[in-house]
Amino acid sequence: MENTNQQQVAIVTGGGSGIGLAIAEKFTQNKIHTVIVGRDEKKLEKAKKQLGEYCYPMICDISNLACIPAFIEKVISKFGQIDTLVNNAGINMKKEFIEVTDEEFQRVITTNLCSVFAISREVVKHMLKRGSGSIIHISSMAAQYGLPKVIAYSASKTAIDGMTRAMAVELSPKGIRVNAIAPGFIETDMTAKALNEDPERKQKVFGRTPMGYMGKPRDIGEAALFLASDAARYITGVVLPVDGGNSVGF
Ligand code: NDP
Repeated sequence: MENTNQQQVAIVTGGGSGIGLAIAEKFTQNKIHTVIVGRDEKKLEKAKKQLGEYCYPMICDISNLACIPAFIEKVISKFGQIDTLVNNAGINMKKEFIEVTDEEFQRVITTNLCSVFAISREVVKHMLKRGSGSIIHISSMAAQYGLPKVIAYSASKTAIDGMTRAMAVELSPKGIRVNAIAPGFIETDMTAKALNEDPERKQKVFGRTPMGYMGKPRDIGEAALFLASDAARYITGVVLPVDGGNSVGF
């Protein structure tokens, strides 16, 4: 077992790129031992080089739900504890409503929702033993208002918001805070692809973002660090928009 010297241990799914990488960067800069999870070994190794000694890459395809209990056990046997879980890994799929197959719908739901439930359930079993922990889900503007052509993604993220509230009321009395961050439009591979292929959508995004520009992954990193920290000890059950005002934009 690693000697963590009573320090904090976090898991960030999808921590090898984009928003997850920025969250892992904030955590490691603050000396939080941070397990980053993904499928692509090269991506994780590159992130490890960037983040340094507090970063621990681990491979797991979270859409393979049957592997999750053993994966969390592996983390526990290495570190002995998990203080913070950030359920960040996610996929998007942009397609006309009637073109989406059942398999495609299910694939998004499995990665963005079922895995979040399964990972949280396994982590909570350990957090309950210590009577403390913080869980942060990554939601989306797709759960705040209607976005066309992302039906499965919207369904998954809206369910995440409901799960945040249900988990918070059940787990907060036992010392586990559960919150979500709803990023607005943040500059990552995911949004670059979605917006560059659709100039009209890009125009709409900027048109209703009062701050007038896209957010950076580090903006979400700052919010996650806050929610994970003792500074947020009385905050649970919230879905925090970090969106330059997009969710309230006219
Ligand atoms: P990226 O595509 O840059 O990163 C997604 C990460 O998730 C990758 O590191 C990928 O790693 C990992 N991942 C995907 N599927 C799996 C899987 N089956 N098992 C393990 N890891 C997986 O996306 P973003 O950084 O943009 O998005 C991160 C989160 O933020 C998502 O939940 C997204 O919905 C949300 N979000 C993003 C917004 C934005 O503007 N960018 C806006 C609102 C929400 P690997 O390839 O190694 O598997």
